Amino acid sequence: MFCPECGNSNSDMIEGLCKECFLKQFSLLKVPENIELTVCAHCNSRFEEGKWKESNISDEEIIYRALERAIEIDSLVEKEEIELEILQFRGTIAECHIKAVAIVLGEKIHQSFEVEVRIKRTVCPDCSKMNSGYYEAVIQFRADKRELLMNEVSRADEIIKKSLNSQFKRNKLAYLAEKTNMKEGVDYYIGSYKAAKKVSNNLKNKFGGVIKESPRLVGQNKSTGKGIYRIWISVRLSEFKKRDIISYLGKIGQITSIDGNKIIVTDLNSYDNFSIFWKEYDSINIIKTAKDVVACNIISKSPSKIQILDPDNYEVVDIATGKLFEEYKIGDEVNLVKIDDNFYIIP
Ligand SMILES: [Zn+2]
Ligand SMILES: [Zn+2]
Repeated sequence: MFCPECGNSNSDMIEGLCKECFLKQFSLLKVPENIELTVCAHCNSRFEEGKWKESNISDEEIIYRALERAIEIDSLVEKEEIELEILQFRGTIAECHIKAVAIVLGEKIHQSFEVEVRIKRTVCPDCSKMNSGYYEAVIQFRADKRELLMNEVSRADEIIKKSLNSQFKRNKLAYLAEKTNMKEGVDYYIGSYKAAKKVSNNLKNKFGGVIKESPRLVGQNKSTGKGIYRIWISVRLSEFKKRDIISYLGKIGQITSIDGNKIIVTDLNSYDNFSIFWKEYDSINIIKTAKDVVACNIISKSPSKIQILDPDNYEVVDIATGKLFEEYKIGDEVNLVKIDDNFYIIP
């Protein structure tokens, strides 16, 4: 067989040509001359195969990934090394250079290619929602039967900001659309219901309290006829605070800690701790606050009792101490709270 290009008959034929002629016309890579990318101008996510993907990636990275996807390597190619380079930007067009080195049929071949990548800027649906102030949920941050404290609001602001920031990478609707301060509390308008749910759980983990959700019908989807709902999530902090004295199912106790799961209380008769779950919140009544605790000096002592002067009328009062307070000495100061003429020692 003769090579139709050069007439050589010494080597094996590949696709009807001698090896030399075959390699001359051989291309290591198949690369399109132009690539067009649709990218969101706000979050840099790109539109690909009918979907918006991966936000917050630099233009350079988007271009390199697009080149990698566009390059097809011929099956005869071995040990290829491919270098991508953006030569320059001309407006929205990136001029790119691809350098390839590989072994084909035992020969080392160098080739290079030019590609133009055009970036078309538009706005993705999530960003256009954010720009229009769209929201799916409202977190109503409140305290039960009292106003929120300044530091509760500033801590909530911090928690919400942090929680939304960490969710935003995966959920572009995890943003705060609006915040409204009112006398009764603060409303936080959140782009995504899912994000708002996480945020309110974070608030509850920090502050405790009771979460309640109520969906409201706000309109109708014109094409499907289905109702459009927004969700109001109320996060209501407890009326009581740490160190308040409460009654609960006949027990009197002081609150020693509050978290997202439960309230821990020290029983002021037995001095044992017990816990109350938030679902029983309505059974808790505040009877005294930390401000009602008074310090008194012990004027005398018997094995199971101490005596103090009632600060209201200066009468001598016996208080059973139990073995917990055996070490009390005459002259020591004890913290007491008076409830219905009975005194309780605050440990
Ligand atoms: Zn030839
Ligand atoms: Zn976007």
